[in-house]
Amino acid sequence: MQQLQNYINGALVAPQSNQYIDNYEPATGKVYSLIPDSGEEDVNAAVAAAEAAFPSWSMTPIGERSKILMRIAALIEENLERLALAESIDNGKPVWLAKMVDIPRAASNFHFYATAIHHYATGAHAMTNQAINYTLRDAIGVVGCISPWNLPLYLFSWKIAPALAAGNCVVAKPSEVTPMTAYLLSELCIEAGLPKGVLNIVHGLGHSAGNAIVAHDNVKAISFTGGTQTGAHIAKIAAPKFKKLSLELGGKNPNIIFADCDYDKMLTTTMRSSFANQGQICLCGSRIFVERPIYERFKRDFVARVKQLNVGDPNKKDSKMGAVVSKAHQEKVLSYIQLAKEEGGVVLAGGEALEIEGRCKGGYFIAPTVIEGLEYNCRTNQEEIFGPVVTIMPFDTEEEVLKYANSVQYGLASTLWTTNVSRATKMAQQIHAGIVWVNCWLLRDLRTPFGGVKASGVGREGGFHALDFFTEPKNVCIEY
Ligand code: NAD
Repeated sequence: MQQLQNYINGALVAPQSNQYIDNYEPATGKVYSLIPDSGEEDVNAAVAAAEAAFPSWSMTPIGERSKILMRIAALIEENLERLALAESIDNGKPVWLAKMVDIPRAASNFHFYATAIHHYATGAHAMTNQAINYTLRDAIGVVGCISPWNLPLYLFSWKIAPALAAGNCVVAKPSEVTPMTAYLLSELCIEAGLPKGVLNIVHGLGHSAGNAIVAHDNVKAISFTGGTQTGAHIAKIAAPKFKKLSLELGGKNPNIIFADCDYDKMLTTTMRSSFANQGQICLCGSRIFVERPIYERFKRDFVARVKQLNVGDPNKKDSKMGAVVSKAHQEKVLSYIQLAKEEGGVVLAGGEALEIEGRCKGGYFIAPTVIEGLEYNCRTNQEEIFGPVVTIMPFDTEEEVLKYANSVQYGLASTLWTTNVSRATKMAQQIHAGIVWVNCWLLRDLRTPFGGVKASGVGREGGFHALDFFTEPKNVCIEY
């Protein structure tokens, strides 16, 4: 069975303990590879390698750094098929989806920051007849990047690319649930000629390898994407050490549909925003609020389409949904469906685990699920489920739906469907969320700030915001 390796100081190496963790294929429920169960000693080696590489990498001309990152982007594109298959095996998502979204976007992340760094500038402030101030932005040093399992390579590269472009050296940990594409990335980095120690990838569990990265005194900044509880834990460790922190956390996003929307476009997009990647995108709209005049029509059409959604082998082109990521996650999602019933919810579609015949017998599949009849403030409508489960409920006024939308602890993303520009503009300002999509979903411009408010996170990624995060500003004031 394939054993993955850590990528430390430019080489692929076994964990010092020689201990490994089973890596399951969610679509079959079978172990298909082994992941290094790294500990503090591996993280220490990775940090030491990163520290040794930092003086040279941070002083490497931008053009050179950029060229290497462009080579990594090109290699990801060249290996599209292989990476998409690996991501699908690790995660359970359809191969076509990984090929269409995850892997191309991972390449774009490297490409984007390889070019953005050329245009990243600082300002100067003249004090009339007295002095000039200018601001320098220097790389921080060694930074830690920790990512989740839902968009494995895409989110991993979304952190690593700006950190490296800005001249930092990185110790990164992918999710132990989906490590394969990060491992393949380490091979591609070697092929691209990334100098040793500049990027180090340590595999392992959150409470051991992840914790050791966060706690290490010489890791000066942490960029983390994952659950809100984990984020809170990380903040507790990092705060007394005054580390820079970017936390991209959970969500419970509202999808608000007004009667004057472009109905067909809304319906098609709402299918995606509800169930893409088995509903395991932090930006999925899991609470659907529909203006009363079109509620019954929406319910009929939406439920009919959901019942037609093909859940199956991720290798098949006609599988619109694959498996959820793990047995534990399947159980968690099913427990929320049970909770919804106990809270008075009526299951209109799905509501159960699915058995797929053939190769995928034993895989972790869940039927796409639609639930109605719940109060906006019940647990099902307040807590993150992160699976193929949405609730629907009617509303009558803008004020009412704003109250529902903003009632949760989260504030990551939101979607508004209306052709009334004034309403869209006004509501976009009033919704508590880091992203408001109007008449679209998941349309991303990498230059824009990305991230949530409230319990969905602090700090911002995206565009120059990420380069700001991965650099320290220093003001120089010269009196004439
Ligand atoms: P998780 O918090 O369990 O794990 C995320 C990463 O943190 C993993 O690599 C894990 O090993 C590591 N980790 C766990 N405990 C740690 C610790 N004590 N110290 C350091 N690292 C630790 O999250 P998950 O289950 O992998 O991902 C799902 C969550 O991620 C959902 O809540 C989802 O909303 C969120 N998410 C948010 C965004 C966003 O942009 N806001 C994007 C994707 C996913």
